[in-house]
Amino acid sequence: MKKYIEVDVARAMILGDSDKVLPPEKIDLLASLGRILCQDVVADRDLPPADNSAMDGYGLRAADSVAAGTRPLRLPVVADIPAGKPWPGQIAAGEAVRIMTGAPIPDGVDAVVKRELVEEFADAIILKKEVAVGNDIRRAGEDIKAGEIVLVNGTLITPAVVGMLAAVGVPYISVVRKPRVAVLATGDEIVDFGQVPGPGKIRNSNSFSMAALVLQAGGLPQVFPITRDEPSFIRQALLDAVSGSDLVLTSGGVSMGDYDFIQDVIRDLPEAEILFWQVKMKPGKPLLYSQVAATPIIGLPGNPVSTMVSFEQFVRPLMKKMAGFPEAELLPPREMATVLEDLSSPGDRRHYARGIARRDSNGGLTVQSTGLQGSGMLNSMVKGNCLIIQEPAAAGARSGDKVEIEWLGY
Ligand code: AMP
Ligand code: MG
Repeated sequence: MKKYIEVDVARAMILGDSDKVLPPEKIDLLASLGRILCQDVVADRDLPPADNSAMDGYGLRAADSVAAGTRPLRLPVVADIPAGKPWPGQIAAGEAVRIMTGAPIPDGVDAVVKRELVEEFADAIILKKEVAVGNDIRRAGEDIKAGEIVLVNGTLITPAVVGMLAAVGVPYISVVRKPRVAVLATGDEIVDFGQVPGPGKIRNSNSFSMAALVLQAGGLPQVFPITRDEPSFIRQALLDAVSGSDLVLTSGGVSMGDYDFIQDVIRDLPEAEILFWQVKMKPGKPLLYSQVAATPIIGLPGNPVSTMVSFEQFVRPLMKKMAGFPEAELLPPREMATVLEDLSSPGDRRHYARGIARRDSNGGLTVQSTGLQGSGMLNSMVKGNCLIIQEPAAAGARSGDKVEIEWLGY
């Protein structure tokens, strides 16, 4: 077991251990939003399927329109073509058809002029300018060609991708399965949401913040009952959690206290390995990382802010990796921002101070701290939208300095 290691080393260990992206599952295309595609998708037909009008207007022969460049030209309208109803006819020289957006271009027509540009009558139009060949005509297959790979394996499914799947007629799609994440709070002082906390007790907030983070990160949380600080209970709960999950998160019980049993319990489980304990970060130092029968168990510190900040640093990237996201997209985006107040030196661990970042009207980014930074102060996470990163060696920042921030929730 390693002890008191750098954040980046810790994260590399966690991510390195799970090169196993979860297996695919086939789901409804709308449910696939936010998932990673597990197959190539080939277009079954051209889109658009035929040359069609890009405008509500009139189809004509561009050659006829040359004369309109010098004097107004009257063209009889020989057909009305709505979208979805191909007209089997053909126009002759000097004729036009009324044609709506998306309607197939009939034989003889080689240009469309939008209706705003002509004078319209029931059975004719008057054209006052020349129209170029191909004007306002969308060509068959200009968006998608039949047989073409329109989406490749590994694509993140965005709303546009969902639209594309529908366009090529794919109702079910193979995507990486969502990680099932067990969420397990420990602590004799923690009581259920529905209960009135007795003397010395507090409500369980971590199970909810963790489950919400899991949901936000695209996972399926399974919330376990609060476990008392008693090794036999913790043992049973962990065995249950490991058996049905891709990842187990615990909160509390990983620090230096007399009742912090998580580490000891895990060590005694079958097929258990403890890989590291304690990370050089504030908040979040006591984090514990272990594997039990190839399922990662991440012991998050119990202080509510530590729980959430540790989740952002270690759990969200791991969940993204499990869900098939590419290596380059596992970590939250970072940016430089001008800090609007003095920040004291972080000491000997990397400090993730909660910050409020704002983009001003010139595109500049400023950040200020959320105020008091105690690791139990959930309010700092409620107010914050980013973490201000202060490296251990650095002196404190002065108001106006550039500091690095990391956006929360990515
Ligand atoms: P521990 O790591 O178990 O010593 O807990 C550290 C701090 O976090 C203590 O003040 C606990 O009361 C608090 N804490 C632990 N678990 C939870 C929880 N599920 N919800 C809210 N606070 C918690
Ligand atoms: Mg505890």
